[in-house]
Amino acid sequence: MDRRVFLVLLLAGCADPSPDILPAVLPSPTPTPRRPKPVNPPTTSGDAAFDAWAADFYTRAVQAGLPVDLLDRELKGLTPDPRVITLDGRQPEFSKPVSAYLQGVVTEGRLAQGRTYRAALAYLPGLEQRFGVPREILLAIWAMETAFGATLGDFDVIRSMATLAAQGRRRQFAEDQLVAALRIIGTGTAPRERLKGSWAGAMGQTQFIPTTFLTTAVDGDGDGKIDIWGSSADAMASAANLLAKAGWKMGASWAREVILPTGFDYSITDGPRETPDWWAQLGVTPANGQGWNALDAASKAQLALPAGATGPAFLLLPNHFAIRRYNNSAAYALGVGMLADGFMGQSGLVRPWPVETPLSLTDRIDAQKALAALGFSPGNPDGIVGTNTRSALKAWQKARGLVADGYLSMDMINRLRAETGT
Ligand code: CA
Repeated sequence: MDRRVFLVLLLAGCADPSPDILPAVLPSPTPTPRRPKPVNPPTTSGDAAFDAWAADFYTRAVQAGLPVDLLDRELKGLTPDPRVITLDGRQPEFSKPVSAYLQGVVTEGRLAQGRTYRAALAYLPGLEQRFGVPREILLAIWAMETAFGATLGDFDVIRSMATLAAQGRRRQFAEDQLVAALRIIGTGTAPRERLKGSWAGAMGQTQFIPTTFLTTAVDGDGDGKIDIWGSSADAMASAANLLAKAGWKMGASWAREVILPTGFDYSITDGPRETPDWWAQLGVTPANGQGWNALDAASKAQLALPAGATGPAFLLLPNHFAIRRYNNSAAYALGVGMLADGFMGQSGLVRPWPVETPLSLTDRIDAQKALAALGFSPGNPDGIVGTNTRSALKAWQKARGLVADGYLSMDMINRLRAETGT
């Protein structure tokens, strides 16, 4: 979900499709002479738009080679799920600051639970060996996605994806997931009643969407079946497989907290990826005073200040970006890393999180409009504080002699409003 940024967090996690593991899509609905007629209207839900989409999808799915009996059986009587429509349309009025999000993620209770599982689950060393991903990272993903398998979601994935597809906003994504889910059923990998998940289609204990399930889910407990719902070993093996494919490097860190020198030029935040030596020349050093291991010393890292210049600073290493192939949110990846460190008994941050003020949608849009009016280009004023907004903010801060950390605080919003008279 590259749509996620530090300030605007959608907390419904799911294993994301990576560009290189997306499935073949259905052909576009161009009529051809051989186009088969639907045997029957697949569903008559009474919702005209849904039924029209379903009939069209059915025709294209038959054309794409999906078995007619499978389609007839699984699409019969399908109706849109109003809960999915509501959840898809919600837009929280206030953003959740990254510090509040992470404090909700890395709790004493969760750390204790993770340490217990770390000692108790005998299959974890085997997964670590097989995939080259540390058991603590797998436990952290399991914790983040479903609270260690406690909350899998009970939405019928076929119905949810059909609902989203008919809505149209994310039709291609939803149809891809629907086709993948039908294939999972059609091949006998899992029956329809097993295909339960979040409203957005993330399934099982480590929340895989159907396309990712098809390409990446594996058997972890050795019974020859892939069951990411009922087997935590299968779910964590699948997560390990995803991270291994994303380039996880065993023995390397995910990030290091760092201290920045006085007078540091903060505009380099979210900028270049360089080696620890390069950063050391700018006075950037590990916060705990310990040196870099050989793997990390040879890696390239990017500076991140999730809560701005007054909060902790991180050099993000390649493994951080591997986690973001699971869920492309920097805050999510920080949460996974911090939990994993905690499961190993490592202490937390040297520098505490600052007090952050939640920003309303109006605050964020006003700031974007002000930046645009002042000649800095924050992109579409949609209230999402992403790369473009942060870059524009940094440029404006730099031009005004402010600390150029690209962090949108209430103070910055008030200054922008004052400057533009809004
Ligand atoms: Ca299995």
